Amino acid sequence: MMGYTIEAMHAIQETDPDVYTAIQAEEQRQREKLVLIASENYASPAVMAAQGCVMTNKYAEGYPGRRYYGGCQHVDSVEELAIDRAKQLFDCDHVNVQPHSGSTANMAAYLSVLKPGDTILGMDLAQGGHLTHGSRVNFSGIIFQSHFYGVDRETEMIDYDAVQQKAEECRPRMLVVGASAYSRTLDFPRFQHIAQSVGAYLLVDIAHISGLVATGLHPSPVPYADFVTTTTHKTLRGPRAGMIMCKAEHAKAVNKIIFPGLQGGPLMHVIAAKAVAFKEALSPAFTVYQQRVLDNAHTLANEFNQRDYRVVSGGTDTHLFLLNLTNKNVTGKEAETALDAAGITVNKNAVPYDEKPPAVASGIRLGTPILSTRGMGADEMTQIVSWIDQVLEHPHDTQIQEHVRKAVKALCTRFPIFYSAQSTSA
Ligand SMILES: *Cc1c(COP(=O)(O)O)cnc(C)c1O
Repeated sequence: MMGYTIEAMHAIQETDPDVYTAIQAEEQRQREKLVLIASENYASPAVMAAQGCVMTNKYAEGYPGRRYYGGCQHVDSVEELAIDRAKQLFDCDHVNVQPHSGSTANMAAYLSVLKPGDTILGMDLAQGGHLTHGSRVNFSGIIFQSHFYGVDRETEMIDYDAVQQKAEECRPRMLVVGASAYSRTLDFPRFQHIAQSVGAYLLVDIAHISGLVATGLHPSPVPYADFVTTTTHKTLRGPRAGMIMCKAEHAKAVNKIIFPGLQGGPLMHVIAAKAVAFKEALSPAFTVYQQRVLDNAHTLANEFNQRDYRVVSGGTDTHLFLLNLTNKNVTGKEAETALDAAGITVNKNAVPYDEKPPAVASGIRLGTPILSTRGMGADEMTQIVSWIDQVLEHPHDTQIQEHVRKAVKALCTRFPIFYSAQSTSA
């Protein structure tokens, strides 16, 4: 069974059959569908077991050795392990492993040095950025004066000269770098130069690419940024949570804003799972995995290019890319629905300079973390592109969807999730 023991699942079944049924159905969905959602991954049984462990029962406000509760010896051990391993993985001066999520980590980075009303400059959500980088509907746009940079209309890549110009116009206190839907290598030395030229702090949010950064497959922002935030559940393949790294000079402010500033008791079971995930990420096998993630993304993008699909910016340097479906006469929303009916899960996504509203969108976002976790390689990528193509050429043809769904299920059986019934008969 999954990260939890069979006995634990039986306990849920006895106490709450409704929730048990939903969990079982979700496990089946994860097992039988091809999930290409770029921000998701399947954590290991060890990570999930840690996340479901007794440390959920412990209050531990404060930091190792300086807690507001007794009985913290053992949770101190796991938090220290998580900290040591994170430092090894990312080579940072200081890390706080308590943020409950990527969003909270960003909030902490801002509030450790900024005041409400200060100006921030981040990447536009509509062009690949994230809600927490200044969007009006998010705390970051509510608390701060937010301005945005984006990508060049032609190349669909970040125009660094334009970023420099924007920074000179709006004079931000914080330059925010990082994205949820941008497939190209980020030039951190250049961003540092821009930040320094206007006296701004530099925050780099590697939520999506942290697995690639940890293994050296994407350059690291750590030498260049004041703050580096990340989620731990995307390419890094840990529990659903966040983390914040910073230069030594900001260490005190970061710790203080996480607790008591923004959070109460840390989720010690999740921190235990972070420690386990970081140990996995330090192993040579994890670098092999991340390389596979990259190789698979290249193969997928190349196959689409060869079939007359428009890959945004022409390709990818990471685990993800966007397809602009305008030339296929199908919207992102229609594509998402048709593909899901065929057992292929993706998300609709705005493309740069999209003329459709975000709820419809002209594109879809595709990522390879989960396919790669399942052990799939180039042959499977080619097959998957062929299926996606068949579905999108006839988005309302339910027979094609049915046919593809069966083929998808058969492929998934050949690449079982490690917690599936097939792989753990013992
Ligand atoms: C996913 C993501 C986040 C937010 O993470 P949550 O854990 O969902 O709050 C922040 N920044 C970027 C760039 C992301 O992609």
